[in-house]
Amino acid sequence: MKNKALLLISFLLLTSNCTPTEKYDWEDGRWIDLTHEYSDETLFWPTSSTFKIDTVFVGQTDAGFYYESFEFCTAEHGGTHLDAPIHFFENRKTVDQLELNQLTGRAVVIDVTKQVAENRDYEVQVRDLTNWETEHGLIPDGSILLINTGLAAYWPEAKEYLGTDKRGDEGVAALSFPGIHPDTAQWLVENRSIKAAGLDTPSLDYGQSVLFETHQILFEQNIPGFENVANLHLLPPTGAYIVALPMKIKDGSGAPLRIVAHIMNK
Ligand SMILES: [Zn+2]
Repeated sequence: MKNKALLLISFLLLTSNCTPTEKYDWEDGRWIDLTHEYSDETLFWPTSSTFKIDTVFVGQTDAGFYYESFEFCTAEHGGTHLDAPIHFFENRKTVDQLELNQLTGRAVVIDVTKQVAENRDYEVQVRDLTNWETEHGLIPDGSILLINTGLAAYWPEAKEYLGTDKRGDEGVAALSFPGIHPDTAQWLVENRSIKAAGLDTPSLDYGQSVLFETHQILFEQNIPGFENVANLHLLPPTGAYIVALPMKIKDGSGAPLRIVAHIMNK
């Protein structure tokens, strides 16, 4: 028990911006939900099945009490969700194999809303990261990299968010949204040490990608992705603490994700 307490204190000291004499106070601050809800409106890849929910029972039972129950069916990759490394790289981690330490940590939030406003097929460049570093310092080891493209404002309107409301192969051909350039992913794995990467679009790669190279480059290094993340505009460039917990699907290549951020008041 004593060891556990010591471990917790060291953890809090290591992960906080406070001076070593201060404790990270989880009560002093607020939580921000970075998750879109699942419903009939939830957006999925044009070739994917969507989220379906059916009523099992709603109402007064014969026994005299009120009761509600539903059943749902969903593809792994839709709505706010996690991409496990195995999604695009053989013999890499599945959803259930990702450690909690990799799904929680300090966020670095990069704003590319201006670039995307000019070009919705924008691919995040290395200079977007180095410009951020000029202002805020090097992306610390163990950061969770989050890219705010501004696209979340269009959720759940398919035409505005995906660039098309067509389904099937026709829909895939018409996809138009920003992503992370493969050169940027390569620069990240060679020069920085991030735990995970997330953004407010349906894919780490931009909509017109056919090889999904950013997925391949990050996933080879067992760096998972968070996609269709919400509310990134509410986060500061540094200091937010992320907790991203996917449904623990055994051998899953992805899963619905509840992702939240904690921000200190000061
Ligand atoms: Zn995915």
